[in-house]
Amino acid sequence: MSLSAEYDPNNIFAKIVRGEMPSVKVFEDEIALAFMDIFPQSEGHTLVIPRKSKATNLLSADAAELGPLIERVQRVANGVVKALSPDGVRVMQINGAPAGQTVFHLHFHIIPVFEGTPLKRHAGERADPARLESLAAKIRAGIAAK
Ligand code: AMP
Repeated sequence: MSLSAEYDPNNIFAKIVRGEMPSVKVFEDEIALAFMDIFPQSEGHTLVIPRKSKATNLLSADAAELGPLIERVQRVANGVVKALSPDGVRVMQINGAPAGQTVFHLHFHIIPVFEGTPLKRHAGERADPARLESLAAKIRAGIAAK
């Protein structure tokens, strides 16, 4: 999908926002929703998406929505770090299919990095649902503790 493609209100993340598709949530407020990536690149890979935006990517977003959204990204990233004590954390955001974007609703990836454990490929292997639930419980507690 090109950088300037129209927003599709039936994309997977729009359905998750509307509650039409399940997700393992770790945070939500009026601005953003954060949930576990079901094809994680590492243990604890979390996604943060705006609730009301109709932006397919960062470039087409309304600049005014980005400040509040990035605050949520930082909050969730701090919660992930608190919960899982990674050695590093990658915050990633992809624009356009040629760059690797697969879901066309603006989102940020929070990918904990553990020394000695290589990241898995992007949108690759499906996680065990029970493992995702257990990581999400820790991350929720990490976010609440911040
Ligand atoms: P991107 O390729 O940057 O658009 O990222 C989309 C991400 O969404 C990928 O990391 C996928 O693994 C992830 N993903 C796709 N479908 C779902 C879903 N139903 N629930 C959670 N994560 C998903």
